[in-house]
Amino acid sequence: MEISFAGKRALVTGAGKGIGRATALALVRCGAEVTAVTRTRADLDSLVLECPSIKPVCVDLADWDATDAALRDDVVGPIDLLVNNAAYVSLQPFLEVTPEEFDRSFSVNVKAVLHVSQLVARGMKSRGRGGAIVNISSQASKCALKDHTVYCATKGALDMLTKVIALELGAHQIRVNSVNPTVVMTERGRLGWSDPAKARTMTSRIPLGRFAEVEDVVNSVLFLLSDKSAMTNGVALPVDGGFLAC
Ligand code: NDP
Repeated sequence: MEISFAGKRALVTGAGKGIGRATALALVRCGAEVTAVTRTRADLDSLVLECPSIKPVCVDLADWDATDAALRDDVVGPIDLLVNNAAYVSLQPFLEVTPEEFDRSFSVNVKAVLHVSQLVARGMKSRGRGGAIVNISSQASKCALKDHTVYCATKGALDMLTKVIALELGAHQIRVNSVNPTVVMTERGRLGWSDPAKARTMTSRIPLGRFAEVEDVVNSVLFLLSDKSAMTNGVALPVDGGFLAC
């Protein structure tokens, strides 16, 4: 299936590393003009070195005012495709969850998604040409994971946010969906799941018997951004080898 985003402008958050970086690069390969947003300048520098057409924006998405200033329509230009990928992960046993980690997690994983989507969707609506938004959620939105109280809760909230935005923006031909991966073999994923015994506790529950590769997630994101999924709206698409089916 050929997907072309020629003539489209895309914005990817958390594009410095992992899934976001790979998504930004894949969108460029498919012909999109890409704005990459993240908070570590060195990651943006290396991304632009790798792909000079990418427009870098350095901002901490947990900072509402700074995000407003960085992502205004007259700064980044009109956007047709948005990928809300940036997230903060903090592992704490439920009884030790702190208010600071709770607030930090919700501010990046939920509030910033709401905010960036507002900024981008206002422009989509006013131009009247529709658009597509994909939120990177997780299998953790649907299935409890030890020490992930806050992360699971943010991703559960994100799935519901996805549905309500889809409901409200559908009339403007703006589609909003999420992908919900199992463990993905990013650098962080490899670090966290390198212990074979720990990995088996998860892979043994995945019918395909393996974790997701970054490419598995990126391909699903491209599909949901593209017209190939023109009638798909408000869904949470598992990229989990069947984990949630069992
Ligand atoms: P990484 O940690 O590899 O990359 C996350 C990126 O987001 C980094 O570039 C990071 O920048 C950026 N970022 C984080 N916080 C902010 C912020 N406040 N402002 C701007 N940028 C920010 O993550 P992954 O690629 O592993 O994960 C990407 C998405 O996929 C996340 O939503 C995650 O929840 C989801 N996911 C990941 C899975 C996995 O196993 N990897 C499994 C299921 C879902 P910096 O490094 O500077 O903080």
